[in-house]
Amino acid sequence: MNPLTGVLRAVMDLLFPPACEVCGAVGDIGLCDDCLAQTPLVQPPSCAQCGIPFDPAAARPPQVCDLCRSDPPHFDAARAYGLHTGPLRTAVVAYKFKGRMGLADYLAGLMARRVDLEAGSEWPVPYSQADAIVPLPLHPTRRRWRGFDQAGLLAVRLGTLMQKPVGQRWLCRRRQTAPQIGLTPTQRAENVRGAFTVAEPEQVAGKRLILVDDVLTTGATARDAARALKSAQAAAVYLLTVSIAPPDWHPAAQHLERQG
Ligand SMILES: [Zn+2]
Ligand SMILES: [Zn+2]
Repeated sequence: MNPLTGVLRAVMDLLFPPACEVCGAVGDIGLCDDCLAQTPLVQPPSCAQCGIPFDPAAARPPQVCDLCRSDPPHFDAARAYGLHTGPLRTAVVAYKFKGRMGLADYLAGLMARRVDLEAGSEWPVPYSQADAIVPLPLHPTRRRWRGFDQAGLLAVRLGTLMQKPVGQRWLCRRRQTAPQIGLTPTQRAENVRGAFTVAEPEQVAGKRLILVDDVLTTGATARDAARALKSAQAAAVYLLTVSIAPPDWHPAAQHLERQG
């Protein structure tokens, strides 16, 4: 940081002190510990492949969920820090839709925490052994409209934290897909099929990749992106998101609009 930027940052901090995104407690950018603790961490039992949590009240949880068994995804595994509900949802929505780009460091930090948690989990995903990080790209027209690429920025910050290269342009959107809201699961899958293309196949071939996005909802988009990376001979694709939509059995699922 150059000295002028440092001074400017100090003045801005004085005028607008960093505060919790939800309760306003002055502290660091992001969520205070109390608010973060209100968001359920994704915990076992959960699907070994897509990471969606199972109802802990159910008898003997299976190893993988019904969807992964009937239609195995092209990604090798997916994990998220927490459920997309409560304060974590507020922070992700503020980042994604309200231009709060300053939250990128905080949210990438939560993803890095999930990477650390994997070491002690039942079906650990070897994120730390990955060769590079690839963001799930927005279509250029949506990027212009929104002003920034939220997954791209998360990938860059995570790359710094994990000290791994980031392939910002390796994966691209091929065509505009219609918004996923209001579509059936079959229509959603159809809507995104073939939407991705690998622009730099020589970079992807033989590599173990972390595919980064902010939220995992239906997984249709991530599945299609993973298919493109695997077609380009990626050795492995591990999806990593900040949050995952609460499963149907969870009370928080009722208030959710599923977007894909
Ligand atoms: Zn708070
Ligand atoms: Zn699954």
